[in-house]
Amino acid sequence: QRRSLIAGNWKMNCLRADGLAIARGLAERAKTKGELACDILVCPPATLVSDVAGVTTGSAVNVGGQDCHVAVNGAHTGDIAAPMLADIGATYVLVGHSERRADHGESSTVIRQKAMAAHDAGLIAVVCVGETEQERDLDATLAVVNGQIAVSIPEGASAVNTVVAYEPVWAIGTGRTASVAEVAEVHAAIRAELTARFDDGDGFRILYGGSVKPSNAAELLAVPNVDGALVGGASLKVDDFWQIIESCA
Ligand code: 13P
Repeated sequence: QRRSLIAGNWKMNCLRADGLAIARGLAERAKTKGELACDILVCPPATLVSDVAGVTTGSAVNVGGQDCHVAVNGAHTGDIAAPMLADIGATYVLVGHSERRADHGESSTVIRQKAMAAHDAGLIAVVCVGETEQERDLDATLAVVNGQIAVSIPEGASAVNTVVAYEPVWAIGTGRTASVAEVAEVHAAIRAELTARFDDGDGFRILYGGSVKPSNAAELLAVPNVDGALVGGASLKVDDFWQIIESCA
């Protein structure tokens, strides 16, 4: 039985006061609500990882980075290495988010190296994949996603150190969610790829992301092979994010 993960990707949002208020709100609820049905993760901008880790220590809220470099250190101005994230309290890191792929030209090959860097630093890599609207219109969704999975997930991946997030690019920040049938089809294809390649492929968590909100979370989380959600906009509001967490069965 896979334990669901509800992850918040704050993207490039929140100054310190706002970020800490969200983190405190979540930590407080996680402490007072007792046993939860899922794991919780927040991925603040790098500037806030340390502070957010500080206020969530000892709570059920885990903290992650939004990206890491492939190297452990060196002449890479502006980049952040995976051991640096681990050093300030992160236990997860997103790699290969479509905004990184688009804004920074990251290929699946680079993303595999980032996932390996994350594993070497003891972090859980959340490897993101997803097709563009154009690719879906061309009926290329499964080919694109399977190709991203094949290249982006390194040989050393396991259900313990790797989470997959399926985020159709056209559903991100648009208010458009993939239908239950579309999500079921892609998640089943990802599961098949994982079980074909890894002994514990059945144990990997596969998250859905793209306009997840309180009103659609329960329906999406009930789809077979959906083991949680990667939430953008709605993760910036404690009430909304908490409702999504409570939508886990
Ligand atoms: P939204 O939930 O804002 O659509 O963002 C999804 C996402 O990209 C999470 O990584």
